[in-house]
Amino acid sequence: MSEKKIPYKIYLSEDEMPRTWYNLRADMKNKPAPLLDPGTGKPMTAEQLEAVFCKELVAQELDNDTAHFEIPQEIRDFYKMYRPSPLVRAYCLEEKLQTPAKIYYKFEGNNTSGSHKLNSAIAQAYYAKCQGLKGVTTETGAGQWGTALSMACGYLGLDCRVFMVKCSYEQKPFRREVMKVYGSSVTPSPSETTNVGRKILAEFPGTTGSLGCAISEAVETAVSTPGYRYVLGSVLNQVMLHQSIIGMESKIAMDKYGVKPDVIIGCAGGGSNLGGLIAPFMGEKLRGEADYRFIAVEPASCPSFTRGKFAYDFCDTGMVCPLAKMYTLGSGFMPSADHAGGLRFHGMSSTLSQLYADGYMEAVSVNQTDVFAAAEDFARVEGILPAPESAHAILAAVNEAKRCRETGEEKTILFGLTGTGYFDLVAYEKYHNGEMKSVIPSDEDIARSLAQLPQVK
Ligand SMILES: *Cc1c(COP(=O)(O)O)cnc(C)c1O
Repeated sequence: MSEKKIPYKIYLSEDEMPRTWYNLRADMKNKPAPLLDPGTGKPMTAEQLEAVFCKELVAQELDNDTAHFEIPQEIRDFYKMYRPSPLVRAYCLEEKLQTPAKIYYKFEGNNTSGSHKLNSAIAQAYYAKCQGLKGVTTETGAGQWGTALSMACGYLGLDCRVFMVKCSYEQKPFRREVMKVYGSSVTPSPSETTNVGRKILAEFPGTTGSLGCAISEAVETAVSTPGYRYVLGSVLNQVMLHQSIIGMESKIAMDKYGVKPDVIIGCAGGGSNLGGLIAPFMGEKLRGEADYRFIAVEPASCPSFTRGKFAYDFCDTGMVCPLAKMYTLGSGFMPSADHAGGLRFHGMSSTLSQLYADGYMEAVSVNQTDVFAAAEDFARVEGILPAPESAHAILAAVNEAKRCRETGEEKTILFGLTGTGYFDLVAYEKYHNGEMKSVIPSDEDIARSLAQLPQVK
């Protein structure tokens, strides 16, 4: 099909929408390492995990073999409210860059929560509801996950208790109020409502909190409240499974026009959007059917892949969660106040970590000020105001397209545009006022944090 026929936006009809999620692990030779019980060093059993997570989600978490999971009708109906998300051919950006590269992006910001996180939030809330639970607890950093989960719980009539990292709670009152619109209760973390919160407050009075600490509080609340379970918006296998909807839609849309990406790029916090975007393409690569380059983009302030260690570590600061084998900077690592809040997690999905360790994926880290410059250039030509997290992928895609300009290669680039930046305008303001810094941890900072990794027998 001739190139001109490719529209600015490729949509799918309802009939063309994926009916299944794809589980990348089914095609991996080296499976991701299991979650371990920090007490015994043994793999977590389904029974142990079910004390914390919903039963059906535990089954998905532990399933390394089933390639396709049917998406329940109720979830597909909810997806129809905001999906398919558009796959955009970035003609204007190509023109601006004067590149022979063909650039596509999958835009996940077209829903009120403003990011891809709703794809997994509705799935997790649905399985909680099916189990007959009263509600769920969770943490939120920048607020995207908490907002997405609030929307999903509001829709299904589930109670939702969100622990919001204190500095975000204070700096992002709008996010907080959106969650309340959907009926959630929002508690600044660390709080006096949990043992772990009280302990952290006693040890570090005046702390503005961290994601790891909020996770500990949410888990404690879930396991100590009857009828509640904990849900997590990234990192876990189940989340990547739900996010495969991003990649499945992208692949169906590209196949429709006979387009094959050469390189696929996504920002990586805990790895869920990237894992979801690349899933069906990585599956082809793992099965030897096609080849693609995959690039994870992370902030230089929190460089889990590029400077972390592949080891078992806690997922939370309070050390109450199971151990996951992943690229990590250490669960005590406190990243600088980078504005891409969604990318400030110390670890990385164990599935993506295994793929990276096995050489199937690349990773780069980028500076915050360069990210905001790329975000603005993008907004001016493509119209969308990107979330700072998403702008990491923009920057890497633009760099790739500029290289094509030099070499004359007509590469096809696909990147994930995970969300919008309306709630990040304080960050944009700092950038405009020249107050934004790119803080990069020293080797000593990272070594000090990694020295605290748990010993695993
Ligand atoms: C949470 C978030 C991310 C990072 O999370 P992943 O699990 O790595 O995908 C990226 N972009 C946006 C807009 C987010 O809200």
